[in-house]
Amino acid sequence: MGILQRITRNIDNRYWDPGLIGFPVKNSYTAGVAGQRFFEEIKENGRIFGSKCAGCDLTYVPARIYCERCLSGLEEKDWVDVGDEGTVYAYTEVHQTKSGEAKEKPSLIAAVKIADGLLIHRLGDCLPEAVHIGMPVKAEFKPKNERQGGIEDIKYFKPF
Ligand SMILES: [Zn+2]
Repeated sequence: MGILQRITRNIDNRYWDPGLIGFPVKNSYTAGVAGQRFFEEIKENGRIFGSKCAGCDLTYVPARIYCERCLSGLEEKDWVDVGDEGTVYAYTEVHQTKSGEAKEKPSLIAAVKIADGLLIHRLGDCLPEAVHIGMPVKAEFKPKNERQGGIEDIKYFKPF
């Protein structure tokens, strides 16, 4: 079940049936109200949305439903297209796979600052020695027919 799929029957919350054999599921997670819109915009329109608190002049990315500073509710009117560009706020080189084996070629992971928020994602089309804090980067989206409503719908961020 993808993060954007909604449960319409309570039984679906407790039991997952992939077709051949089902098994009980003890936990379920959703993207939440703002998270759902955030991922739907990426999937359907290739846009990154934030939510802006006018009182605090802060734009959260990803979008959220309240301001962490003043606790004001952020409604749909407060959601803004923040574009697909950001800057590298922090980064690291990854030299091992999840299982601890040496990678043939290191990969780059960055915290990308967009408006007043951060997205953790891969860097692509970029050599490790070229990366620097403050480097402008742009989201490279998967083709629309390959997007599934998750952060992986962005292939990576690349310098421009
Ligand atoms: Zn606020």
